[in-house]
Amino acid sequence: MGSKRRIGIMGGTFDPIHYGHLVTAEAARHLFGLEQVIFVPSGRPPHKRESRVTPADERLQMTLLATVNNDNFIVSDREVRSKRMSYTYDTMRSFHQELGDEAELFFITGADAVLEIMQWRKIEEVADFCCFIAATRPGYRLESFHLSPKLAENIQFMEVPALAISSSDIRRRVAAGEPIKYLLPEPVEKYIAKHGLYLAQDGCGSNFAEESVVK
Ligand code: NAP
Repeated sequence: MGSKRRIGIMGGTFDPIHYGHLVTAEAARHLFGLEQVIFVPSGRPPHKRESRVTPADERLQMTLLATVNNDNFIVSDREVRSKRMSYTYDTMRSFHQELGDEAELFFITGADAVLEIMQWRKIEEVADFCCFIAATRPGYRLESFHLSPKLAENIQFMEVPALAISSSDIRRRVAAGEPIKYLLPEPVEKYIAKHGLYLAQDGCGSNFAEESVVK
């Protein structure tokens, strides 16, 4: 391992954050020798304008509650505070500018999200200063990926059994009145109950449908 600082940037909508995300971040930190993992909840996800997403401030609060007890985890509100679409290119470029060439950056996210990475904005440029860690659920089949040679060289896959937990299943469970205990940290469970999140599947989220879809 060189002398550069190795920093993980954990991107996701986190709607809500759960133990699968936390185990992913901790496994990546250990496997790739990362000094810290910075969680970056998406502000306005570019690929979700047709769907309903819980307001960014609430997803940020849940991410803070879930990570507060781990000194190696930090939360950044840069995408939540930005009025612009949350492009990974802009986020990673801002970290690169802030941390400088002395930091080696690793963008961590779910393999399902990475499936369409070739359509992400300026992704070949991001690969100039960042590696990608794609977390897969057990039994995930990798052959469906079509990557450019540069991206193929820059993506590492990591199987995370705890990713059998999913945000969509947690939302469905809350709407159906099923328990979510032990799927996510208790303070997040309490936050969801207190704020009445996910009670109706088509409920209170923001709708980004009015804007044209540009990845
Ligand atoms: P998503 O489509 O909601 O999720 C796709 C899959 O990946 C889901 O199964 C999801 O599980 C899982 N996943 C998402 N984030 C994860 C994480 N950090 N660790 C482990 N599994 C994760 O994906 P998303 O959350 O909206 O986007 C993921 C990241 O990619 C975000 O940072 C987003 O900004 C970025 N992205 C960028 C572009 C672009 O720049 N054009 C386009 C798309 C995505 P859960 O539902 O359980 O989380």
